[in-house]
Formats: sequence, structure tokens, C-alpha cells
Amino acid sequence: MNYSNTLAFAQEQDQKDPLRHLKDRFYAPQLNKQDAIYFCGNSLGLQPKSAQAYLDHEMQNWADFAVEGHFKTDTPWLHYHELLTEATARVVGARPLEVVVMNQLTVNLHLMLVSFYRPQGKRFKIITEGGAFPSDQYALESQARFHGYNPDEAVVELFPREGEHTLRTEDILASIEAHKEELALVMMGGINYYTGQVFDMEAITKAGQAAGAFVGFDLAHAAGNVLLHLHDWNVDFAVWCTYKYMNSGPGGTSGVFVHERHAHNAALPRFAGWWGHEVKERFQMKKGFIPMPGAAGWQLSNAQILPMAVHRAALELFDEAGMEQLRAKSEQLTGFLEFLIDEIGADKSQLEVITPRDPQARGCQLSLLVKQNARQLFDLLMEAGIIVDYREPNVIRVAPTPLYNSFEEVYRFAEVLRVCLTGKL
Ligand SMILES: *Cc1c(COP(=O)(O)O)cnc(C)c1O
Repeated sequence: MNYSNTLAFAQEQDQKDPLRHLKDRFYAPQLNKQDAIYFCGNSLGLQPKSAQAYLDHEMQNWADFAVEGHFKTDTPWLHYHELLTEATARVVGARPLEVVVMNQLTVNLHLMLVSFYRPQGKRFKIITEGGAFPSDQYALESQARFHGYNPDEAVVELFPREGEHTLRTEDILASIEAHKEELALVMMGGINYYTGQVFDMEAITKAGQAAGAFVGFDLAHAAGNVLLHLHDWNVDFAVWCTYKYMNSGPGGTSGVFVHERHAHNAALPRFAGWWGHEVKERFQMKKGFIPMPGAAGWQLSNAQILPMAVHRAALELFDEAGMEQLRAKSEQLTGFLEFLIDEIGADKSQLEVITPRDPQARGCQLSLLVKQNARQLFDLLMEAGIIVDYREPNVIRVAPTPLYNSFEEVYRFAEVLRVCLTGKL
């Protein structure tokens, strides 16, 4: 696409955008008594206006039916999580059998590691990206310790080459090859939360499995952001939260993927709970755990109806938009942002975009490395009514999301950024 650095161009793109009506389905956060420009969907997605009604519906069912709400309503809680399965499968490129919505992200990561990190003898290493989201680091570190290994030896962290900000796929694959005798697991983010780099999940999965390891991804920043084909890529497992790009509310529920080929393997070790037990027998309260087939067999507790009600509203918007259309808009929107930042012509000693320039290697987020006065720049953006996200020590993450952001907002952001960089700072 040929971009042009004018407000008129941005407005014209908005006119042509087949998804522009979706912005109005979300509440706009307020800043200085005005609708803010919100580029922080990577951290907490906006509230769909429809969420309240879904939530109220279950609150009313609870009031009217109490315990009978499990069976007697139009959305019986006993099966409520199943209402989310098909739409979830569409977002991550899975079969319905392969996904379940439950718990929260880090809990689910541990549940998956219980099943798929099975160190034995000298095969005990985990390859992961260096500087992963802290919760993922702590999960891997504590799992290694749990199995009696020293995490400094068990967890192999991959870092970019000297002078580079992102990992090269060839280096990831080379490291898998170099550790192939000792490798138990490859576990990475699908997108690195800090740089916004998308990893080549298909190639990593293939290489990891060829080395005799399981391969899993944390898709916190990928689900609802980029196109995923977890089934076709043959990924063993994946987990994601739903409160970032999936707009399902603070502390919302989480999604899990377990590939179909593990669906009927009852011998796979797991930590079990009654909601994962074969549903036909669940209420017989008998001894002896029989897992449900597929990802559902990892459920522990009865479903969290209230966060799931919000998630249901959010998933409907994904179905309405379609991931392909969202992604098509996203590439243009983020491409426009990149173009406008280039146009500012800031010196590398002042500002550098550390997210890959290749659209296939990023989602909607651009991470700006601000070499001087990063915190001050963040504060100035806020004053101007723009909500982005600041990460210590000096990165500002800007995530125009295709569900509710417009080209005009991207243009306005870049104008403020230009003034800040060339004037006030
Ligand atoms: C947001 C995020 C988390 C947060 O985990 P919770 O268990 O939902 O608090 C973990 N990992 C990654 C990669 C994230 O981006």
C-alpha cells in the first residue's frame, strides 16, 4: 500500500475500511474529558458494549434460578464453556476438540508444563526466548526446580545477536539442533511482548519435534492479533489470556490448545480435577479419573461463568469481523504507523523502532526504543489524550488494534509524536 502523510489520506482509509463500524461496539476510555486514543490493547483490550448484557443475563439467571442455573436456563452453566469453543477454535486455527477456555494464563501454562515438560535423564532442557514475560520465566524456572534440576542449566535462553533487537529464526533453529540430545521442550511466546516480534511457530515446532521435544507457545500477545494455524502447524500445546487483544476484561479467563494427536492419550500425565472428568460420569462422583477427550480433559474446576459471559460477547465480535479481515486491516494500520514514524525522520540516537519491519514478523504493535527522556515522552502523550504503554527502562509500545482503532487515530498519534520529538523534548 502507498501511504501518504496527510489527515485526508487517513480519513479516506477509514472511509474504505470494511470494519470501521466495529469501533462503535466498544467503550472509549476517557482522558481529559474526551475519548482517548487508545493504543494499549496489547495490555488490556477495551470493553465491548455488549459485554454488560451477557453478564447481566447470567446474574439474573443466578438470581432467578440459583443452583438450578446449572441446568434450567437457556445457557445452562454446566455446558457454558462449550458456548466458547467453536469461536475460540476459529481465532487460533484449531479444531474444537483442541481448545478449552478455563482458569487464567499462568495457571494453564503450569498445567501444560505438567503434561509436556517431562524431563528424563539427560533430556531435560527447555529452549525459550531470553527476556520472556516474567510470569513465563518464573513458570519455567519453578518447573525445572520442581523436577529437581537447576534452572540455570535446564532453561536455555536465546538472545538476539550483538547489535540486534530481535531473534533470527535461523539462530533459534540452530540452537534447537545444538541441544537436540538434551532437549525436552521448546516453549516461547508466539509474539515477544517487549519487541512485538512474531516467531516462526511453524518452523520452530517442526525443528523442536524433530529434535524429540514437545513444542508449546504462550500466545498472550498473538491470540486475536495475528493469524494462527495451531492445528496445521502441529504445535503440541498453547495458552493465552483473553484480556489483551481478545477484550474479555481484567483478569479474564484464558484459552488452552492441546493438539488433536494428544486428545485420546489418557496416559499423558496431568493434574486432574472433576471438570476434566468424562462428562457422562462427572456427577457420579466415583473414584478413578477418566479424562474427557481433547483439551477439555485438562479442566479442573467448574466454569467461571461471569468472566466467560464477558468473553462470549468479545468472541462474537471476532466472528463478526473474521480474523482474516482483521489481520488485513492490521497490516495496513501498523504499516501506516511505521510509515509516519519514518516520516518524522528522528535520529537513531533519539528513537528506534525495535519491532521487525517485515509485516509477517510482527502483529499490530510497534515498540519504540526512546533513547532520551522516554518517561517524559510517555507523559506528554498522555497529556495529549493518547494512551500507550511504557516499559522500563525506555520502551514505549504502541498497538493500534484493528477492531477499534482508526487510521485517523494513527495519524493524530504520529503528529503528537512528531511535535514531541522535534519540539518540546
Ligand atoms: C500478559 C502475559 C502474561 C500474564 O499472565 P496472567 O497469568 O494472565 O497474569 C503471561 N505471559 C505473557 C507472555 C503475557 O503477555
